[in-house]
Parts: sequence; C-alpha cells; structure tokens
Amino acid sequence: MKNMSDILKGRRVSARDRKLLRIFNLSPSGARKAASVKKLAETLGFEVEQVDLPPGVSGCLVQELFAENGYRIEVNQRQRVEARRWAVLHEIGHYFLHADHTDPFAFGMNLDRSGETFYTNPQEEREANEFAEVLLFGDNALEAALDLYGKNIENLRRHFGVSEKTLRIALRQFCPNR
Ligand SMILES: [Zn+2]
Repeated sequence: MKNMSDILKGRRVSARDRKLLRIFNLSPSGARKAASVKKLAETLGFEVEQVDLPPGVSGCLVQELFAENGYRIEVNQRQRVEARRWAVLHEIGHYFLHADHTDPFAFGMNLDRSGETFYTNPQEEREANEFAEVLLFGDNALEAALDLYGKNIENLRRHFGVSEKTLRIALRQFCPNR
C-alpha cells in the first residue's frame, strides 16, 4: 500500500509541507480523539470554513487572496463531522496534486464540486481520495491502531475520525490479512 512519500513523489511540495503531511497521522490528539484536520489545513496555510453548500456537495477549494497559501477550503456545514473531515483532506489532496500554484487562472476552472456532475475528472477525484486515505491510514498508521485497539471497529473509527464505511474500506486496502 502507498505511503505519503509515494503520493508526493515528483510533486512540487515544500519540505515543510511534506513534513506536516508525513507527521499528521503520527499525532492523534489523545486517546480515542482523532487528529484535527482543520488544524492541519490551517498549518498548511489554508483558510477553512463551514458553509452552506448544495446537498451532495461535500467541499470545494476556492482561491482566497488572504489565505496564507492562497486557498480556502469550504466544507458543507450540513454534513456529518466525518464527511466534513474527509472533505478537508480531499481538498488538501487536490491542492497538492492538481493545483498549478503558479497559475491561478488555470486552476480557477478546476474548483472542486465533488458530487456534482459539471465538474468531475474521475481520475483527479480518485487521486484526491487516495491522498486522504494515505494521509489518514498510510505509513502503518492503520496497523499501529489495530495493534492498539484490536479489531474494535468503533474505537478504530473514532481514532481516525471517519465513517464506518471508510474504515472498512481502509481495512481491506491497507490490512487485508488482519
Ligand atoms: Zn474532489
């Protein structure tokens, strides 16, 4: 299974950001409490906001002049916390994998409206989800949590702050033999 360094290979990502991404899943904020994705995003220079988005749209990435890295992540305030967390990580993925940071006009056409059909490049959507998955579960984070909790789905789910469905998919992908 992939690690964060595989995902970022060949990408233009600063050493500081690489480090922040690499240590994210090593630092849950305490027993059974998931690491804050909002804090991660803000440390990476994004603004993060909960807004009213159309049903079915989880999040989007918008240019924001006043954000440290030039982008704001908007998440749908009507969705559950697990969905909002996932959306933040997914949008961070788009930023590192698909945004051409030097050309805001090129990126302006790529605003993510996951779930709506007018924007969707399925390949980019898959890559952004894979990024989120590896950020959470990669680099042996899921293995380590299994060692800690055993196969207690509820504890594992809380540890990562994801839905049960996401957790079960991750278990199949990252730890098929456990
Ligand atoms: Zn997307």
